[in-house]
Amino acid sequence: MRRIEQLAILGATGSIGRSTLDVAARHPDRFRIFALTANSQARELARLCIEHRPRYAVIADAESASALATRLRDAGLDTKVLAGERGLMEVVSMPEVDVVMAAIVGSAGLRSTLAAAQAGKKILLANKEALVMAGPILMAAVRAGGGPLLPIDSEHNAIFQCLPPGGTARDGGAGVRRILLTGSGGPFRTRKLSDLDAVTPDEACAHPTWSMGRKISVDSATMMNKALEVIEARWLFDAAPETIEVVIHPQSVVHSMVEYSDGSVIAQLGNPDMRTPIAQALAYPDRIEAGVAPLDLVDFGALTFERPDFERFRALGLAYEVLRAGGTAQAIFNAANEIAVEAFLAGGLPFSRITDVIEATLEAIPPRPVDELEDVLEADRLARAAARALDLRPA
Ligand code: NAD
Ligand code: MG
Repeated sequence: MRRIEQLAILGATGSIGRSTLDVAARHPDRFRIFALTANSQARELARLCIEHRPRYAVIADAESASALATRLRDAGLDTKVLAGERGLMEVVSMPEVDVVMAAIVGSAGLRSTLAAAQAGKKILLANKEALVMAGPILMAAVRAGGGPLLPIDSEHNAIFQCLPPGGTARDGGAGVRRILLTGSGGPFRTRKLSDLDAVTPDEACAHPTWSMGRKISVDSATMMNKALEVIEARWLFDAAPETIEVVIHPQSVVHSMVEYSDGSVIAQLGNPDMRTPIAQALAYPDRIEAGVAPLDLVDFGALTFERPDFERFRALGLAYEVLRAGGTAQAIFNAANEIAVEAFLAGGLPFSRITDVIEATLEAIPPRPVDELEDVLEADRLARAAARALDLRPA
């Protein structure tokens, strides 16, 4: 009989967290929910706890912890409540935990993801920002911890499935010539450039093919998401940056491709539904039902591909510059974007200036070598301060 795997879901109230719970709940014979975490949404986290009965619930915001504990007690649950980043790090390291879904958004997920890697857990990585900030450090922690790391980002999950077992593209290993990273181009691929100043947060978050959290939706609209994904692919697959190519594919059916030296191109296809990569990673190397509708290619009729417009989406080119610069440049790139997106979502910064903020921050702070985590965290702090010091108000 198969042993039941215990899951810790970081960011359980989010888009990826909820999809993970949906897939896991279809397979009670394989998975049990050990821990659920959220930022400050005590009511929503309590609801999920009542449904999934985890042993632990962690709320990052310490002030919401007593509200959560009261709700759980009133519901008759004996779920233990932990708080803060310390609580997150404690729970991912517990010996009972087999699998950690890292689905916190942004740099807030870095330390808990690292702790899970150090503890040798099987990590399902959705939190791409952690890898962008601290790629070499996180990958070294994964190797030292000895647990597997499976990509959840749909493109990287596709690439993982198209690569030979072992999932590396190092030095053209196994004849890999190029990684073709697809992207829909977001909601503004064809919008008149002069119209982009007036874009509202809700328009930017209305993605044509994927339904996602607000931060990644804005990243998709600026194509910063694809920029982060180029860096993510570089570290996940040990791929040289010049072998990673972005291809625009508005239907989001081909989730990415790998080209080999003999001319073969292997692609992974599916409906744009994150439950597919989540189920693939949860069950790997098995396959399980994910609740995803079958792909009807005839219904799509045509799949189309275009080259990205590097002038419209300057963030994309910056990814390659940042990789060339190395060291803390990636953490600076990520932090500036987080501040700019926050300012845009709060209704201050115009959409068209998000990339300006990133460029100005990269210019303001020279990159330094990364020897340890503190180098990354310091760059993150400096970049946030520099980005905040820029004018983030409407023009
Ligand atoms: P979301 O905003 O829907 O959810 C984010 C989760 O993180 C929530 O549970 C929230 O409570 C938690 N959180 C936020 N700030 C926190 C903090 N400071 N401390 C602790 N917890 C905190 O985001 P999402 O769309 O689910 O994305 C999660 C991650 O997955 C992101 O890194 C995103 O880039 C990546 N990702 C998402 C998708 C998608 O389809 N949604 C696809 C690929 C990759
Ligand atoms: Mg993606």
